[in-house]
Amino acid sequence: MTLAERETQVVERVPKQLFVGGTWREARSGAVFKVEDPSTGSVLCEVADAGTEDGFAALDAAVAAQPSWAKHAPRERGEILRRAYELLMQRQEDLALLMTLEMGKPFAEAKGEIAYAADFLRWFSEEAVRIEGGYSISPNGQARFLVMRQPVGPSMLITPWNFPMAMGTRKIGPAIAAGCTMILKPAQQTPLSALALADILREAGLPEGVLSVLPTSDAGGVTEPLLRDGRIRKVSFTGSTGVGRKLLEQSAEQVLRTSMELGGNAPFLVFDDADIDAAVEGAMQAKMRNIGEACTAANRLYVQSGVATEFARRLSERMGALKLGRGTEDGVQVGPLIDAKAREKVQSLVDDAVGRGARVLVGGSAGDGDGYFYRPTVLADVPQSSELSTTEIFGPVAPIISFDTEDQALAAANDTEYGLVSYLYTRDLNRALRVSEALETGMVGLNQGIVSNPAAPFGGVKHSGLGREGGTVGIEEFLETKYIGVGGV
Ligand code: NAP
Repeated sequence: MTLAERETQVVERVPKQLFVGGTWREARSGAVFKVEDPSTGSVLCEVADAGTEDGFAALDAAVAAQPSWAKHAPRERGEILRRAYELLMQRQEDLALLMTLEMGKPFAEAKGEIAYAADFLRWFSEEAVRIEGGYSISPNGQARFLVMRQPVGPSMLITPWNFPMAMGTRKIGPAIAAGCTMILKPAQQTPLSALALADILREAGLPEGVLSVLPTSDAGGVTEPLLRDGRIRKVSFTGSTGVGRKLLEQSAEQVLRTSMELGGNAPFLVFDDADIDAAVEGAMQAKMRNIGEACTAANRLYVQSGVATEFARRLSERMGALKLGRGTEDGVQVGPLIDAKAREKVQSLVDDAVGRGARVLVGGSAGDGDGYFYRPTVLADVPQSSELSTTEIFGPVAPIISFDTEDQALAAANDTEYGLVSYLYTRDLNRALRVSEALETGMVGLNQGIVSNPAAPFGGVKHSGLGREGGTVGIEEFLETKYIGVGGV
């Protein structure tokens, strides 16, 4: 089979309808919207376009399924997740190709994301049977306290386009483990991975109504009435800080539990005493994973003056050697950006920095072809006043800013409303701990350029969000605590 035939096949196999209450069906209005391949600008397929009525149908299904799902044996909930993990891994190649087609990331990276996404299901399959409570005696000895954990209830999950599978499993995994029913609204640009995931969970034995998936071209029109309805009890969102803020406002009305994984503006600090080879390697990962379209992407590279020139030279060599192209082609390391608007934003940030005195060491312009390609770019001597320093770039651009002292580096790193992740390269143990403690972020990559792992608590502080996903705390977001005071013992 040729690659073109395989591409057609993986797209054809995915259900294109809404998944509501355990069945696939068209939108009530009959509407559809188009899904595009960002590497060519061509249309891949059309999918059903949910409206408000479909949202309420999914909510009714979630509410109806909640009581029996909450009583489902934890071991069985875990086993459904385990089977889904195995199915994802068995179909890794096809799912990765599908993701590359709708999102643009290189095939090898898409395969990596399928494994990462599947791992959340495996992790939470193990957590489902470890929901614990407590027993204690009141301080005056006259009562007993029983503490139990219960599912929060029907949950609204909203995910972005940049990790179309992993952002779904990072929420679905703990919701299933905790015994919550849920409605997933995937990003409009990448609904296919979410639809494929829904079909896998159905095949793995997820009961009807526990999960509904609603692709839509009217995100707010579908989700806002549900958040204001009162029967949804939780919203878990990954996306931009602006949309997160809106959802927090909407959630206030019914006092919903919220988890918010929002934007980032990660500083990447390299000190004179760092292992420069490791720092360049780490910068390549932290900057170029997912074409730079990651909330964890290194957005500002602060390099101490003694090594700044050498670091910039080596990073430029590596960035300039990367192969740009359609993610399905052999050896391609950098795919297209998600759309024309994203590419225009990246270009305008580069132009702004250059206008303020930054030097382009490599790249600095759009790539060839019909897709939304942008060349891997390194900028040196970037003034701290550049828009790049305060805006999430979401593209393959590495701005280098040099510094003299640790205090200067820390002040610059923390000079942002965001606080998701920071990276730090040093061989001095005391500095490593001192700086890690002082960085105002939820995560720190210490001598490593990647922080994402299902077994670790992922999340940010400040405007980067509320709550954590993954690790042993990930399931907490979907559990309530109830205590029973027992008298007369
Ligand atoms: P976005 O525009 O905020 O969209 C995210 C999701 O929210 C999409 O499903 C989107 O639907 C939906 N949405 C948009 N407006 C909405 C509204 N008014 N009501 C309800 N839902 C709405 O973000 P994005 O551009 O897709 O993703 C990039 C952002 O996500 C970046 O800021 C990145 O840092 C952040 N992110 C954070 C993390 C983390 O863990 N902290 C991880 C990945 C990404 P449509 O697609 O239909 O617009």
